[in-house]
Amino acid sequence: MKHKWAMAIDMDRCTGCGACVVACVAENNTPTAGEEEAGKGRLMQWLRVSRFWKKEGEETRAIFVPTPCMHCEKAPCEIVCPVYATYHDEDDHLNAMVYNRCIGTRYCANNCPYSVRVFNWWPAKWEKPLDEQLNPDLSVRSRGVMEKCTYCIQRIRRGKETAIKEGRKIRDGEVMPACAQTCPPGAIIFGDLLDPESEISRTVKDTRLFKLMEHLGTEPSTVYLKKQKGPGR
Ligand code: SF4
Repeated sequence: MKHKWAMAIDMDRCTGCGACVVACVAENNTPTAGEEEAGKGRLMQWLRVSRFWKKEGEETRAIFVPTPCMHCEKAPCEIVCPVYATYHDEDDHLNAMVYNRCIGTRYCANNCPYSVRVFNWWPAKWEKPLDEQLNPDLSVRSRGVMEKCTYCIQRIRRGKETAIKEGRKIRDGEVMPACAQTCPPGAIIFGDLLDPESEISRTVKDTRLFKLMEHLGTEPSTVYLKKQKGPGR
């Protein structure tokens, strides 16, 4: 069964609370980099929430932009990997990674216009009792390996296996990445674009829809809904 997983982020609902970032770290066994390493640009996060200020008349408003991997259909990261460690998963339309094939050239990070790939500079340290909360559904990556948001591929696989076992199709909302599940105002919508009845299929018809750096032609699967204007917004 083929799927085209996509994510829409409603900037009108995002409050910049960062719950999505914490959920992503916990779900995906992402180590903390520490202040010093983060200061050198080595923050280990698959999802960041960027904040911008917009002046409107007398008011200055904050705008939050959660930024995971865009899972580009024409991904600039894939074409520069010399060992095909990053590739396009045609069954799910995901930009996937084979960690034990990666040789750490970081060409993919260099070619990603969205700066969403992170590099493992050091072996991950899990101080007690943090080691006990590691997610057994996916590996802890080693030093020298590139990593990034996978739309929580372990959850996608689990959902597909369950549906196959029960002889049915995946239901809309059954598979959800940790960030979408955790977001308190429900700003992250995730689902299958090949299901015409899914919430994501309805969402991408919203007139507020836009894509980051659309002019580059990367055809991102992560899209955004503009903030609405009006009194009190
Ligand atoms: S956002 Fe960057 S890492 Fe993700 S698929 Fe596009 S080019 Fe690759």
